[in-house]
Amino acid sequence: MQKEALKEGISIQIVSAYRSFNHQKKIWNRKYKQYILEGFSEQQTIAKIIEYSSIPGTSRHHWGTDIDIIDNARSRPKKLLIESNYTKNRIYSKLKIWMDKNASNFGFYLVYNNNPTRKGYKYEPWHYTYKPLSKKMLEEYLKINIFNFYKNSSIKGSHLFLEIFLKMYSFEHILGVNLEILN
Ligand SMILES: [Zn+2]
Repeated sequence: MQKEALKEGISIQIVSAYRSFNHQKKIWNRKYKQYILEGFSEQQTIAKIIEYSSIPGTSRHHWGTDIDIIDNARSRPKKLLIESNYTKNRIYSKLKIWMDKNASNFGFYLVYNNNPTRKGYKYEPWHYTYKPLSKKMLEEYLKINIFNFYKNSSIKGSHLFLEIFLKMYSFEHILGVNLEILN
């Protein structure tokens, strides 16, 4: 896919791929501390983090099947992974248009698309999954009961991961994906 894109002057560059549980925990705990310092309640803090970031243990980046991409043929803006970089006439719009047209021919699909009926994470025009592997990963993942896993964990705010919350989170965030990758 990189080779084909390069023929049209687009240099697909992965900026994030596999992330370990501990890496995700660092991201989570850093954001948690920051939002609490800014005055948000614990519940508000969790709600804000899960707009874009996963509870450690639930990220698709743990599977090694998902990537966040930019176009390395362009000079890097200060913030890479923001929606406005990928919209019309912006720095990564050429990449986005090319991916819209070609990615599925290589097995890659946008996960958190801009379908307004999709719940969970906000629109992420940079995050792609390799469906031939990740479809099976999701099927296996859904067999796990994650509730017990978070008892006495060192993840900040995990005392609020009650069964009802995790059920809702699984439904909205883990299953809140592009329907094309479920079928
Ligand atoms: Zn991602």
